[in-house]
Amino acid sequence: MPHKELPDKSEIVIIGGGIVGVTLAHELAKRGEEVVVLEKRFIGSGSTFRCGTGIRQQFNDEANVQVMKRSVELWKKYSEEYGFSFEQTGYLFLLYDDEEVEEFKKNIAIQNRFGVPTRLITPEEAKEIVPLLDISEVVAASWNPTDGKADPFHSTTAFALHAEEMGAKLYEYTEVKEIIIENGEIKGVKTNRGVVNTGIIVNATNAWAKLINAMAKVPIHIPIEPYKHQAIITQPIKGGTVKPMVISFKYGHAYLTQTNHGGIVGGVGYEVGPTYDLNPSYQFMKEVSYYLTKIIPALRELLILRTWAGYYAKTPDSNPAIGRINEIDEYYIAAGFSGHGFMMAPAVAEMLSDLITKGKSKLPIEWYDPYRFERGELRNKALQMG
Ligand SMILES: Cc1cc2nc3c(=O)[nH]c(=O)nc-3n(C[C@H](O)[C@H](O)[C@H](O)COP(=O)(O)OP(=O)(O)OC[C@H]3O[C@@H](n4cnc5c(N)ncnc54)[C@H](O)[C@@H]3O)c2cc1C
Repeated sequence: MPHKELPDKSEIVIIGGGIVGVTLAHELAKRGEEVVVLEKRFIGSGSTFRCGTGIRQQFNDEANVQVMKRSVELWKKYSEEYGFSFEQTGYLFLLYDDEEVEEFKKNIAIQNRFGVPTRLITPEEAKEIVPLLDISEVVAASWNPTDGKADPFHSTTAFALHAEEMGAKLYEYTEVKEIIIENGEIKGVKTNRGVVNTGIIVNATNAWAKLINAMAKVPIHIPIEPYKHQAIITQPIKGGTVKPMVISFKYGHAYLTQTNHGGIVGGVGYEVGPTYDLNPSYQFMKEVSYYLTKIIPALRELLILRTWAGYYAKTPDSNPAIGRINEIDEYYIAAGFSGHGFMMAPAVAEMLSDLITKGKSKLPIEWYDPYRFERGELRNKALQMG
């Protein structure tokens, strides 16, 4: 990919080749649109290949539940069509007191209203799902068997290849340096490899979104800041030992599951930032070891092979900014996914393609309105993991 000549024009230019940019290019190409993706490093090199693999519909508001229900349908459809791994092994939220149980009962009611089959289960039922759990302090669990996990490498690559097959053009090592705008109209982008003329730009750079917004002189404030979040992977163990994503807010906002290579992948809420620093830290190692072994004591026996860091591109209400910037003709943004952008990507691609090609979407895209910050209309804080 890096050696292809840049085209001198394209109807649509997507800046950023993470899962969001790639699934969007895939959806637009499928609809017959001419689309180019410009990625400053390699496809997936931002947050996408650093993510925890989790895909859930267990959110605490109507919009995210509906969007994630659609996203799971698309994950299922495309994993079957393209042959990448997406497993519906569920999400299990461990709950430790009445207050947590009450809050989750409300969430479950919203989820059930939109056909997401989450239910409150007993600690013993949770232990049947993950036999190694320590349930001595658990009073209940929120369980949705249709949530799951997908391999970020295989899925992003599959979407990229199929997007290209349908005519999308993806360019790696191509960094956008400047956005050319005349009289409020987009004319093109300047990159380290030349200019691409275009009338439509999508900013899909997540943690770098504010830099691209500054290049376009976006006249509204869209507060998206990069925060360092870290993860671990352990040595592989017997497949099927920890099938679902297990969450414990009590123990460090921890999440953990088993990858299809057999290792346990997990993280905690330990957050540093705003920063573009990505050095893993000893403090994280201490916290993640402490909290994960509180949830599953047997993990004490496992070796941690590697830790790494990536960005959560956070907004004040943990919901992304998705939509059109009206003051600049045909400038769109889909960024600020606050730690849950991998799971959302297929539905975001559909919503945004609808907005670009039809001017509206059936999904509740208004929830993610980029203008809400200026208006002081923050949403319910979306349920954020890690
Ligand atoms: C430790 C960790 C665990 C996570 N776990 C989960 C999880 O379990 N489930 C989930 O849904 N999400 C999870 N996330 C969040 C998820 O990784 C992100 O929300 C998602 O990957 C965002 O995708 P994206 O395409 O918007 O951004 P990115 O993947 O960051 O892509 C943006 C791209 O833009 C490129 N770019 C930037 N500037 C320019 C420029 N000037 N020109 C060209 N290209 C540019 C970057 O190189 C980058 O590749 C996790 C994140 C971390 C760090």
